[in-house]
Amino acid sequence: MPITTVPKIWMDGEFVDWNDATVHILTPTLHYGWGVFEGIRAYATPQGPAVFQHRAHMERLHRSAKILQMDVPYSVDELMSATRELIRGAELDACYIRPLVYLGYGEMGLNPLPSKVRVAIAVWPWGTYLGDEGITNGVRAKTSTWVRIGANMIPTGTKACGVYINSSLAKVEALQAGYDEAILLNEHGSVAEGSGENIFVVRDGTLLTPPLTAGVLRGITRDSVIEFAADLGIPFAESDLLRHDMYVAQEAFYTGTAAEVVPIRSVDDRELGPPGPITRRLQEMFFAVVAGKEPRFAHMLDHVHE
Ligand code: PMP
Repeated sequence: MPITTVPKIWMDGEFVDWNDATVHILTPTLHYGWGVFEGIRAYATPQGPAVFQHRAHMERLHRSAKILQMDVPYSVDELMSATRELIRGAELDACYIRPLVYLGYGEMGLNPLPSKVRVAIAVWPWGTYLGDEGITNGVRAKTSTWVRIGANMIPTGTKACGVYINSSLAKVEALQAGYDEAILLNEHGSVAEGSGENIFVVRDGTLLTPPLTAGVLRGITRDSVIEFAADLGIPFAESDLLRHDMYVAQEAFYTGTAAEVVPIRSVDDRELGPPGPITRRLQEMFFAVVAGKEPRFAHMLDHVHE
């Protein structure tokens, strides 16, 4: 999706003009993928833009970096305040936010430790990732021939740049086969997640999602939806899921910051039908919370204008 530019990008404490936010071609992260990032969204609310689960995302960025032995030279609070300032400066109501922790120019080779850790944060307006039609009527998913990387291949608990080769291979395969999104199985053959989304199904009225030990990223939307389900009295359990469980699910949906809450209407051409009642309730709750219309979950929002 094309990017709409805004005036500034934050790089290591400076607000740099959009077109000047560049790195040297010998930046090691470009070559080896050693870096970590986040994907965050800010939404329009009656009190102006608010960042959804801001602290949780910046904390996950710090955890991702720790796993890769990268010392982030900015605290969670500093990153949050830089992000709020960027959004205010760009005068955006809603946007996507992309913090990136990467290895700066100066060293080369497979040992990342001597490199200087650099940090950038960009914000830009970004529409619905899987399309408005997908949000409303559901998307068509395809089980990927690409297997989700295992926790002892590349740590699955880190949102590391290089991991996304695995995600993109699955995404491209799904799109080229005429589907909207992929379902990756893990090395044991159980359902893991989408290319950039966690997966939920409803079976016998219970909401199910694979456990973190299935090799999935601990999605912040996943955590939020689990909280919404508890609030709405929807029974929930973590459970390993097999490929055929997806085919006979009463309901299924993806969650993720970019994708939001998106019904799955078919899996490998097995029709699941239109979005079901539990999917709808959780989706409505999600959109109400991010729009600042659910006081019970107001703590999930970080307002950009004090
Ligand atoms: N899995 C993967 C592989 C992802 O990239 C993402 C997006 N960050 C997710 C799940 C969903 O995570 P979140 O809800 O925190 O965006």
